[in-house]
Amino acid sequence: MNRLYDALPVLAQNLACTWEGYRRGRARYTKHFHRTLRNWTESLHAPIEQLHEIQWTRLQHLIEVARTSVPYYQDLAPVSKATDPIQAIRQTLDTIQPLEKMTYRNAAEQFVSSHIPRSRLQKNFTGGTTGTALPIFYTAESLAEEYATVWRLRMEQQCRILDSNLTFNGQSVVPFSQSDAPFWRHNAYGRQTLFSVYHMTPRNLERYIEAITRSRAKYVQGYPSALHLVARAMIEAGRTLPKGSLKAVFTSSESLLAFQRETIEKAFGTRVWDRYGSGEFSVSMTECELGNLHVDMEFCIVEVEIEEETELFERGSFMVTGLSNSATPLLRYRIGDSGTRLKKPCPCGRAGDVFLDVDGRNEDFIMTPDGRLIGRLDHIFKKQVDILEAQIRQDSKEAVEILIVPDEGYNETSEANVTKEVRRRLGNEIHVDIRTVELIPRERNGKFRAVKSTVGRMET
Ligand SMILES: [Zn+2]
Repeated sequence: MNRLYDALPVLAQNLACTWEGYRRGRARYTKHFHRTLRNWTESLHAPIEQLHEIQWTRLQHLIEVARTSVPYYQDLAPVSKATDPIQAIRQTLDTIQPLEKMTYRNAAEQFVSSHIPRSRLQKNFTGGTTGTALPIFYTAESLAEEYATVWRLRMEQQCRILDSNLTFNGQSVVPFSQSDAPFWRHNAYGRQTLFSVYHMTPRNLERYIEAITRSRAKYVQGYPSALHLVARAMIEAGRTLPKGSLKAVFTSSESLLAFQRETIEKAFGTRVWDRYGSGEFSVSMTECELGNLHVDMEFCIVEVEIEEETELFERGSFMVTGLSNSATPLLRYRIGDSGTRLKKPCPCGRAGDVFLDVDGRNEDFIMTPDGRLIGRLDHIFKKQVDILEAQIRQDSKEAVEILIVPDEGYNETSEANVTKEVRRRLGNEIHVDIRTVELIPRERNGKFRAVKSTVGRMET
């Protein structure tokens, strides 16, 4: 959204959101989408052999396109001749060099298939946390298939495309300078209320709660960090939604942490269903009733570079091969996320690869004065009930700054606890500066980052 949009009255902004909703709906919910969703709804409970057959057929097609029309892949070996799909997939992938993000970033044009006319290609940017944009070319079919995975999950929870819903995503629908409600806009076409994730101060959240409790929405979707903030406020205000008034809450785009899930489920009176996906159309996993993440086998192949293994599971970084984007085939793509895969099938009965957890936090590390890189620092705040949100920032290895949005009850003891926890992980050398703030700024894409360090940033 641009400055012209910002200058419009709210009513006109609602019309603009409705128009945008119409445009997006037309792009996503095509004939190909409905056909794919029907097919994949059928294969949701297919036996593993059938899923491997689907994967093998789609992989052969992808490799054929890559070999014959993608400059980067012109020397690719032919596919395996094995008759067993699982063996054929394994042998074929083994001949392919893993792809680094950096390699793709530096030569994105080399990955575009010349089979597809440029007029049919759409371009988007992804790339996540480091701020370096990664261009992605895709077709209308890729987008439709991505949404087939999204809607297969939602339909399992009895949600329908025309159900009214509330969203908490990164769209800048409310001008940043606006200081009074409404902090949301309406997309009448999609029966959608779009809440701003950039205006969530404790004072403004009261207005969010009013809007949520007034709405007749059937489901909620959004970023875990934003939903957690609003859920906390609902619980504190004693204004949680009655059980069963919503069909479901769907989270994506950030790792959903256990405490966030618990709070969101309590406030919204319904179950959270998580999905792990990527802007590159490379991977999709959806949650089952047992809380495990199932690979959408029709959409992608996920390999794990094993770093840790027991009898029950194997853990490591992902190499993903998206089967739905032949416009830009990325084969064995090191996406930068990792996870824990179960070695046995999920007890829920759905076949295919299944993960206990996915660590998608592509977060910065903090560098200590003696040069150590420390990651996963969000744990510092996990048990602090009197902190609404926190962010660790670092611009030199001598010091960190910690921004805290205090909750009721936050006092000197709380601050001392934070210092203690920080010292425990970062040592006594580093200078620690704690600042309480009303709001932690979101990234340009609306996402929240727990750790921001220009000295401990890993380029992936
Ligand atoms: Zn399962």
